[in-house]
Parts: sequence; structure tokens; C-alpha cells
Amino acid sequence: MIFKSIRFTLTLWYSVTLAVILVLFSSFLYLTIRKQLYAETERELLTIAESVASPTLEPFRSSAPSVMDQVLEDFIGPKITGKFVQILDSSGKVYSRSKNLKEYTFPLTRSALQGARLGKISYETAKAPGLHSIRSIAFPLFNEGRLTWVVQIGSSLESATDTLDKILLVFYISIPLSLLLLCYGGWFLAGRALKPVDLITRSARKITAENLSHRLEVINPKDEIGRLAETFNSTLARLENSFKRTRQFSADVSHELRTPLTILRGETEVGLKWAKEPEEFRELLQSNLDEVKRMSDIIEYLLDLSRLEEGELPMNLQEVDLQELLLDLMPHAKLLAEKRGVTLTFTGNSPVFVKGDQLRLRQVFLNLLDNAVKYTQAGGEVELSLASDPGYAKVTVADTGPGIPAEDLPYIFDRFYRVDKARNRAHGGTGLGLSLVKSLTEAHGGKIEVTSEPGKGSVFTVYLPLSSTEIQ
Ligand code: ADP
Repeated sequence: MIFKSIRFTLTLWYSVTLAVILVLFSSFLYLTIRKQLYAETERELLTIAESVASPTLEPFRSSAPSVMDQVLEDFIGPKITGKFVQILDSSGKVYSRSKNLKEYTFPLTRSALQGARLGKISYETAKAPGLHSIRSIAFPLFNEGRLTWVVQIGSSLESATDTLDKILLVFYISIPLSLLLLCYGGWFLAGRALKPVDLITRSARKITAENLSHRLEVINPKDEIGRLAETFNSTLARLENSFKRTRQFSADVSHELRTPLTILRGETEVGLKWAKEPEEFRELLQSNLDEVKRMSDIIEYLLDLSRLEEGELPMNLQEVDLQELLLDLMPHAKLLAEKRGVTLTFTGNSPVFVKGDQLRLRQVFLNLLDNAVKYTQAGGEVELSLASDPGYAKVTVADTGPGIPAEDLPYIFDRFYRVDKARNRAHGGTGLGLSLVKSLTEAHGGKIEVTSEPGKGSVFTVYLPLSSTEIQ
């Protein structure tokens, strides 16, 4: 379980990354120091070789070791201490060597000899028996174009090796130690950083469908986990809201459908029991038809609304001339108005183009006109007007009806909201018309506004974005 935790994975990643960095860094450091130490030795060897190659020393090159040591010490000085010198002829045979080599012949490889014949200076490392590694130079000496001598000088790498060994020892101790510390520190830090996740987990466990009001504690809203918790909280808020709406919606729908069903049932039962004459049955059927119409209206509206919410209501978007559309629905609206003794007028003397679904836009304006006519008393007036605002088409439906109280205004676009429930039922309303109008307007990229003064009337204004050709 612990091996699958983020804490373990983080610590492991830290440690592996640091281990790789440390090993790479140490190797680089080690190799650089080694190169530097070797380069120093090689520089020294070259200086001595050049001195030995000096023509002044020519007579002593083949002399006995003791004499050569003395000459070299006199000529080169203390730099020669601890160095081995060997003079070889062009065939690689040793002619003379310093005393410290005793009888030992310092090896000269074939490639170094061949290099010398070609005039190349070469460096080699060899291990003399019982001695430390020795770095040597093979320095060729020419006379009239012929290889005469090869001066070989060797220097023990003891001190360089010592230094390098010490460095290695430091690495061997410090790398595992720092890794150990890092593992511990990483484990501790990851634990601290992930603590809020633990808190969130515990808090999230308490959330159920019944308890969606619970929120996660946000310790630091600016860090990643804080942002996660905030996002989770806002998702919860949306979920809670949507749960509430669904519950409210089911309650509303059952309530709304229950009334017409109760009426339908009651009237049918009474009719079956008492009605005898065909006229009575006709009346009963007519009343039943009204209730059935109301129910199918409710269901139709609800279907449209939920399709709109899901973005699944098919829209046949095209260039629509609102003036033409409104003039077209005027005769129908006028008929409704006349029936109720209300005067309906239209103002709008130029075409205004928007991009929209002709049928859906018709539905929007018919709903508004239907409401205006329905709620305005006989003798009242309803005015439909069309104008264009910058970037928008503006359609206004103003009536001289009873108006809407200020406290109801914010809710009239909510589903099933009615200002005067009993009276509105008598008008045959579903309480869904304005929600559909609002959703349809918004689906067209527009907005709807309402102003109303109780006793004086209401003004509904729909703004729809002008189609791009219109704006140009
Ligand atoms: P309904 O089917 O009841 O008319 P709506 O959603 O169309 O449902 O309207 C919601 C409520 O807003 C109505 O019940 C009514 O109380 C109020 N309302 C809408 N339009 C008007 C208006 N023009 N004048 C007064 N009240 C209105």
C-alpha cells in the first residue's frame, strides 16, 4: 500500500534524481581533478625532459648512474628529486639510468618507441613492481635528422593517487549520507505537502447525495491543493444546486400535473354518474380537452426547456428579418387581442436582421404578446415595437395591464412561477412560458429584461444580436 502512495513515489523520485545528479557531478569533479593532476605531472616531466635534452648534457647521457644523478641534480635542481631518468638509444636499449632505478629497467612500450622515431613525445602510465603507478614521458632527441636518444623520465603518481583516493573516499561517504538525509527529508516534506490531501479525503468521505451542503476545508486557496479543493467545492455547489433543482422540478411537475388530473378525474366521475344529455357529455368532454391541452402544453414546454438546457434543441439558424416576422404574427396576435377587447399596435418601420430560428423566435414573441394580452383588462393597450440598439435588435412588448409587483419581478422567469396563482390558472397559463422565452432568447445569444409598475403595466424587452451582415 505504502509503495503505491504518492508520498513514496515522490520520495523515490527525489532520491533517484539526486543520486543521479550526485554521481554525475562527483564523476565529473573526479575526472577533472585527475586530469588536472596528470597535466601538472606531465608539464613537470616535459620541463625536465627538455632540460635533459639540452646539448650541454650530451657527454653525460651515457655515463654511470651516480655521475648522471649528480649532473642532473646540479643541472636541473631539486625538481629532479623523486623522478626516474632513463636514457635509451634509438633501438630502445637502456644506456644509462638514474640511481633510484637500481637494476630495474623502466619499460618503454613499442608504440612510444615508434612515436619517438617519428619525433613524437608520448606519455604513458605503468606500474613498476612494488611501486606506485608511474607516469612517464618518452622524449626523442635527434641529431642530423636521426634519432639518437630517447630520454625517458618517470614520476611517481603517489601523491596524485593519494589525493584522488581521498576525494573518492569523501564521495563514498558523502553521497550515501546525503541520499539518506534526502530520503528522510523528502519523506517528511512530501508528508507535509500531502497533508491537505488527507484532510480533503477525510472531508470528502463525509459527502453523500444527502449531504451535498458539506464543503471541503480550504487551507491555502492559492496553492494547487487549495485550488483543487475550491474547484471541488464549486463542483459540489453546482451538484447541490442541480440536485435541488431536480427535486424542486419533480415536485413542481407532479404538483402542476396533479391539478388538471384531479379536475379531469373528478369531472369524469361526476359526468359518468350524472350526465344524461348529449349536451352535458359535450360540455364534459370540452372541459376534459382543456385540461388535457394544459397538460400537453406543460409537457411540451418542459421538453423544450430541458432540451435547451442540454443544448439539444435543434435550431435552424438563418438570417431572419424581425420586421417581417413580427408583421407576420400580428394578425394572429390581433385576433387574440380582439377577443379580449385589447388594442394591439405595432411600430417598426425598417427591416432588422438577426441570425435565428424563425419558428423559435415566433414562439418567443407570441408568448410575450399572449401574456400581455392575457393579463391586460379589456380596453387596455398592448404595443409591440421593433428598433435597433447598437449591435442589437430590440423588440419591446409593452402593456397597460396590472403590472408585476417588484418582489415578484426577480422570479417571473423561474419555472412554474406565477404572481397570482389562482387567477393565472383561470387564464390557462402553465407558468412556464417566460422561462422558455428566456432560455430561447439566451440560446440566440440575446437577453430579456422586464420593467413593471403595478397598476400601470409591464414592458418586456428582448435584445437579439444583429446578424453580422447587419452590423457591417
Ligand atoms: P403563465 O403561463 O402563467 O402566463 P409565464 O411564465 O408566461 O406563465 O408568466 C409567469 C408569470 O408572470 C405569470 O403567471 C404572470 O403572473 C406574470 N406575467 C407574465 N407576463 C405578464 C404581463 N404582461 N403582465 C402581468 N403579469 C405578467
